[in-house]
Amino acid sequence: MGNMTELNEQALAKYRNSFLHEVEERVEEGDWVKMCMQCGVCAGSCTFGPHWEHSPQKIFMMIRAGKREEVLRSDSMWMCTSCYNCVVRCPRKLPITQIMHGLAQYAHRLGVAPKMQPTRDLSLIFWNNCIKTGRVNELRFTLSLYFKDGLMAGIRQALSMQSIALALLMAKRLNPLEFFKGHECKDKAGIHRMLKKAQEIESRRQGAHK
Ligand code: SF4
Ligand code: SF4
Repeated sequence: MGNMTELNEQALAKYRNSFLHEVEERVEEGDWVKMCMQCGVCAGSCTFGPHWEHSPQKIFMMIRAGKREEVLRSDSMWMCTSCYNCVVRCPRKLPITQIMHGLAQYAHRLGVAPKMQPTRDLSLIFWNNCIKTGRVNELRFTLSLYFKDGLMAGIRQALSMQSIALALLMAKRLNPLEFFKGHECKDKAGIHRMLKKAQEIESRRQGAHK
């Protein structure tokens, strides 16, 4: 993957004044955005709606109005819980959930997603954990999450969860040795090759090399 800021600059130059066009070409299911008729059903149905800065309806309106910075730097689409409430109710059948995740992923690729966003942090930790061996190492995943904000914060968090850790240990659901070497997929190298290929295809699809 190339330099993310550079990718952002390239996208800016290519799609100047046409954020809708950029979304249509580069964001998953982005070509649906123009179908939105601004009825507001998604905004009213969203489970987390009241806590979002911008509802899906507003995000679609902002995309059409060319508010690139405001949309891509927004925290809103990271709040989507994939409940699909909006999708089943949208009279125009927009795949709103996929577009929300597509926008978040695109902002992340460009390096303009909000920093310290908890969903983004969790997704990155999960992804980096599972691609290493092809399987999630739960112990390391949990510890990475606890210690992501520093040593003291991690210790505090770990201490607050010690009774649960103990119960998991007693029930043989937690193996401290996993910290050193956890389960691995048989063909780890094959998984890495597959992911590399998928990344190449995705980059081509999103026009990152254009
Ligand atoms: S429910 Fe569908 S058509 Fe209505 S505002 Fe939301 S996305 Fe647009
Ligand atoms: S899928 Fe996402 S955008 Fe749609 S209602 Fe649920 S939380 Fe809101």
